Amino acid sequence: MPFDALDADLDARRVANLYRQRRVLDSPQGATVDVDGRRLVNFCSNDYLGLASHPDLIAAAQAGAARWGVGSGASHLVCGHSAAHEAMEQRLAAFVGKPAALSFSTGYMANLAAVTALVGRGDAIFADKLNHASLNDACQLSHAAFKRFAHNDLAQLERLLATTEADRRLIVVDAVFSMDGDCAPLAEIVRLAEQYDAWVYVDDAHGFGVLGDGRGSAIGIDSPRLIYMATLGKAAGVAGAFIAAEAVVIDYLVNMARPYIYTTAAPPPLAEAVLASVGLIEREHWRREALAMHINSLRAVLAGAGLMPSATPIQPLLVADSAVALRLSQCLGDAGLWVSAIRPPTVPTPRLRICLSATHDAGDVEHLGRTLLTLLQETR
Ligand SMILES: *Cc1c(COP(=O)(O)O)cnc(C)c1O
Repeated sequence: MPFDALDADLDARRVANLYRQRRVLDSPQGATVDVDGRRLVNFCSNDYLGLASHPDLIAAAQAGAARWGVGSGASHLVCGHSAAHEAMEQRLAAFVGKPAALSFSTGYMANLAAVTALVGRGDAIFADKLNHASLNDACQLSHAAFKRFAHNDLAQLERLLATTEADRRLIVVDAVFSMDGDCAPLAEIVRLAEQYDAWVYVDDAHGFGVLGDGRGSAIGIDSPRLIYMATLGKAAGVAGAFIAAEAVVIDYLVNMARPYIYTTAAPPPLAEAVLASVGLIEREHWRREALAMHINSLRAVLAGAGLMPSATPIQPLLVADSAVALRLSQCLGDAGLWVSAIRPPTVPTPRLRICLSATHDAGDVEHLGRTLLTLLQETR
């Protein structure tokens, strides 16, 4: 058969407990979801503020579709850049305190676009080993020397910066590490960038909307060297991403970034939904307060049970191996709690990745903590 080789690879994954499958949702994204005919409390979603199915966002997308239609028709440089996109970019730039912003259809595309445009042969990238896969792919595609430092190891970063002879030097980090939930020391990294004449590209997919009073992880770090990227499909509840930076950086990306230039602009109704979302992120502090309460209560119940140190809505629990991760995830599912088992190659060590949302019910968070505690005691 023509695809026997593919079949064999998939079988090897099954045997190693690394096979992946999608589950089909039959409800909007939310604190509870319907899947396989059952209602589950959803502890897998990056919809940290519970905005993905908020009535204001739905209304903005509907009004946006009535005003602009659905499709954008072309790339931004041809004829696809609407006043809705323009207004969204200006709003986002002002919100995070940068002179200009540029929007993308996905975070993956934003990372590919920025990194491959900013550096190339003869340049160097300095990247945290736990950066998101999309950043790693972008760094590899750029053809710049790709130097990785141990997670949050600023001494190693400084040694690499001190010995490089590259023309352009780009430090690339996640602001909040997506599978660990901890944060990069951005202020110190920017200080090193100033000392060694480097630029800093920060991916704040998990900080925007949540940290810095909603304005993200880089708020208060006032350096033109910092190029800020955040996604709009997580806490913002919509889709897409933006990069905010000095005007010259944005102008350069518009002119040079191939994954920006050669793709159709996102549907304008999504830009309207993002505008509504930013309003809620700015005004509704109670969402971040509820999130903080859930984080504290889960950590209190699971104290000493192996949660990784994290102050963000991402609360991973390391487990012995992929089989245990899968089994725990299945047992939680039986109890009506959906927590994903994250396994290699996504992460080096298997874990349960618990994601909390502002719209979770406090009792459900307690239930998760207690159920997990019981399961762990049975396992050990
Ligand atoms: C989710 C994520 C991305 C990709 O963003 P999408 O909009 O989903 O393509 C990039 N970086 C990090 C750190 C992420 O967690």
